[in-house]
Amino acid sequence: MKKKRDPSWAGSLKSYPKRKGKPLSPTERMVDSTVSEWYSEKHRRLSAEEAAMVNSARVPGCPFCGSWNFARDGRRRDGVQKYLCRSCGRRFNPLTGTVFDSHKIPISEWVEYLLHLFEFHSVVTSARDNRNAHTTGVYWLRKAFAVLEGCQGSVVLSGDVWLDETYVSVDKKDRVTKGGKSLRGISRNKIAIGAATDGRSLVVVPEWSSKPSKKRTLATFGKHIAKGSRLIHDGDNSHSLLIAELGLESEVHPTSETKGLPDSENPMDAVNEVHALLKRFLREHGGFARRDLQGWCDLFWFIWSRPASRMEKVAKFIEMAISTRKRIRFRDVFAKKSDK
Ligand SMILES: [Zn+2]
Repeated sequence: MKKKRDPSWAGSLKSYPKRKGKPLSPTERMVDSTVSEWYSEKHRRLSAEEAAMVNSARVPGCPFCGSWNFARDGRRRDGVQKYLCRSCGRRFNPLTGTVFDSHKIPISEWVEYLLHLFEFHSVVTSARDNRNAHTTGVYWLRKAFAVLEGCQGSVVLSGDVWLDETYVSVDKKDRVTKGGKSLRGISRNKIAIGAATDGRSLVVVPEWSSKPSKKRTLATFGKHIAKGSRLIHDGDNSHSLLIAELGLESEVHPTSETKGLPDSENPMDAVNEVHALLKRFLREHGGFARRDLQGWCDLFWFIWSRPASRMEKVAKFIEMAISTRKRIRFRDVFAKKSDK
């Protein structure tokens, strides 16, 4: 049988090959120190702070069977706590089942990515700045959307509540065209995004239609506006069921009245400002797939909402990610171009 080639023939990059009784020459030492510096840069270890953060996460039962009957089971070499489930016998750690699961990249690498993401930077830019491939940026973005999913769920606006819709075009391939040109005015080429704010909080949701119905408007905003609030809006007929069901006071400013008014005099300014920011935000992420629109709206919401400081947002996001069991597999994100 042919002798198998030593699997390490290309050489581990951790250290220069040592030979008995022969010290490294100055050249070899230089190569050794350069490579090991580069290697540790590429393969960053978990910091003690990161391990402590991971270990501080509350473990919501066994990620495999849901049992609470589990016990500590020593630590990984990097300091991360391991657990053993007494019900199903499987081992896990606080990150098992989260978007940080089986991460080859320390969570700390996310800090830079998130700082950029929360600054209205495009994914492409963030990916480049992080020296990661574009696909990594897209993969991380999908993870970010998974973590943020449902983040607006508990928002309840009250008092004076401004409500209005803004529109984005559907994906290029889905546009109704005539003679190769997409028809600008046609409503089927648009998706409405409803936004409501009371100045303190915000709800921003795609309504997946160019003309949201009364029922749709009620379904979208019914749980997000406190009964008896005052709705300040353009009087669109689709708002009527929402007003009736929640017993809202209705203050109407039709577009014919507000068009061309300077912001400071426009009674719809609170929600117009949200729309202007949202449009700028979506433009900066130009070319995003419309099926991700909810994700982009959630991300916009997260950036708009408190805490205001980006560093606090990053910390909040990481806490959300660690406490949310949602795993996004690379192969699912990039599985088939055809079914996207
Ligand atoms: Zn279990």
